[in-house]
Amino acid sequence: MSADAVLARINVMKPWLGEEEALALAEVVASGWVAQGPKVKEFEEKFAAAQQVRHAVAVSSCTTALHLALKVAGIGPGDDVVVPSLSFIATANAVTYVGARPVFCDVDPATGNVTAETLHAALTLDTRAVIVVDQGGVPLDLDPIRQLCNRHEITVIEDAACGVGSTYKGRPIGAGADVAVWSFHPRKILTTGEGGMLTTNRADWAARARTLREHSMSVSAADRHTSTLAPAEVYLEVGFNYRMTDLQAAVGIVQLGRLPEVLDRRRDIAARYVAGLAGLRGLRMVSDPPYGTTNFQSFWVEVLPSFGTTRDGLMERLADAGISARRGIMAAHRQPAYRWQAKGSAGLQHTERLNDRTLILPVFHELDEDGLGRIISTIRAAAVGAGT
Ligand SMILES: *Cc1c(COP(=O)(O)O)cnc(C)c1O
Repeated sequence: MSADAVLARINVMKPWLGEEEALALAEVVASGWVAQGPKVKEFEEKFAAAQQVRHAVAVSSCTTALHLALKVAGIGPGDDVVVPSLSFIATANAVTYVGARPVFCDVDPATGNVTAETLHAALTLDTRAVIVVDQGGVPLDLDPIRQLCNRHEITVIEDAACGVGSTYKGRPIGAGADVAVWSFHPRKILTTGEGGMLTTNRADWAARARTLREHSMSVSAADRHTSTLAPAEVYLEVGFNYRMTDLQAAVGIVQLGRLPEVLDRRRDIAARYVAGLAGLRGLRMVSDPPYGTTNFQSFWVEVLPSFGTTRDGLMERLADAGISARRGIMAAHRQPAYRWQAKGSAGLQHTERLNDRTLILPVFHELDEDGLGRIISTIRAAAVGAGT
């Protein structure tokens, strides 16, 4: 067995969970109330305060939050919703759930995000909403997008699944959209196992999301439980069961408290990559845009032809060294589920280039100096002219 083979494997991501989460869970178990209840309410209040937004509605995932965001915005059959193809498939799927048509737009090659220009190129006469994504945590430039959408009376939904802790012009992202959605999947910065949140400054939309997530019952299960003579409930429209549990929310509260420390560590790791990979030809690294800061949910690199090894070749070299990287963000229009839509979309050349050439490197709280050193030296050894 070679010396390399005994090195511990480095994952691309590992959630940071500890004793505090275990204690918080034990407390909920002991309370006997494990479904949506007081912990969900507390998590919502703390999350809204952290994001500087008026209302937060906890749900079972970011995908279900996207579905509810489109419902409260009144999007349905006959409507077009412009979305980036360069995103996790859930962004486009939510549009399909409500019977509307996703129309794909391209992204800015520097940030991987939608811009007012790429959105404008994809607008149709039936466009009633857009879903813009802070891809990999990199904040998008919302103000020009807001101006464009206000002019055309188009709702702006921000898919901030990866973006907790990122900032736009000095404030947390998400607050400037009509509605924003967040993910607590373990691949993201904070986790509740599975879970999501919808945030908005509109009281009417928050109220409708709260009832839709709970079968559109006129009285919540938690409220019925606390009154001895349970009032009869009325089902106002066809709703869903998209609730978060108090077990998940208790973990979320602890995780939210860890956010400043998690962000510091991720930004340190990113700085270490930037220093360690400096001077390599043909390797472009993700960075903060001029108007904001990223949480480095993903640290991605674009592998250009001048690097000497292809993106897939570099992935193999990393895998041989026990390092698990990931191909960059997917492109929905290239998937069988959406191939019907590929021809109807605006030019997607930047999307395709980023999809073909980017690679996501490991970033997680407990990634140590030994691991970082191994990743950096493996990449340096794969560069053109290495070892000469
Ligand atoms: C992860 C992700 C989602 C889906 O989040 P879930 O909580 O797993 O449903 C949606 N949009 C984007 C951009 C994502 O990265």
